Amino acid sequence: MAECRSEALLLRRIPYGDTSLICHFMTESHGRLALMVRGARRRISPFRAALAPLYRLQLRWRPGRTGMGILLEAVRGPAWLPEDRMLEGLELLAVAAGLYREGDPHGYAEVVMVLQRLATGSLPESLHAAVWHLLQLCGWVGNMDECWKCNAPVAQQRSMYWQAGSLVCHHCGRGREISVAFCARMRDVLHQQAVQMPRAEHALWKHMISSVLQQHHIRLAGGYQ
Ligand SMILES: [Zn+2]
Repeated sequence: MAECRSEALLLRRIPYGDTSLICHFMTESHGRLALMVRGARRRISPFRAALAPLYRLQLRWRPGRTGMGILLEAVRGPAWLPEDRMLEGLELLAVAAGLYREGDPHGYAEVVMVLQRLATGSLPESLHAAVWHLLQLCGWVGNMDECWKCNAPVAQQRSMYWQAGSLVCHHCGRGREISVAFCARMRDVLHQQAVQMPRAEHALWKHMISSVLQQHHIRLAGGYQ
């Protein structure tokens, strides 16, 4: 089979045998793809330095006739994030790895877009906004200016409620109270306004993200578990 090339980023590395790795990549041309990387854990392997997450990678591989393809070359380009945001970047990749399953042709452009969102603004707002944006791209969350069931405008409510991964008005359900002011601050952060949220709202937003992931049966080990 002909060799393939693509820009990519590394999602997961899984040890295989004594010296090899199975690596999950998000590729520009083929979406999420797992490749065998032979000898990658040997001390002298050229793959050791190249296969790091959160870098722009250029991959060359041979697709498998029946099974997994073999990675032939990986060239590491620049990092997607500044050094002090790498931990948040790994959290974002963990969510992406849950959202896009193997064989899914989508994901690369989406993940690159939200990494760029994470690169600017204050933390943790930028991380929550980046994850939220990824959930929006998957169609799992709606707009913060209307009830997700009946489309009643948030601006005309006293408060909204968070129920099983959805924002609802008081006609449509009850749950954890979500103030209209918080909806407005979330919208501002999502539109990259320089808004600082009170600490309690960081926790609330994180809870909302976790509950959306739970509704879709995605279990993560990291911050959004
Ligand atoms: Zn409603």
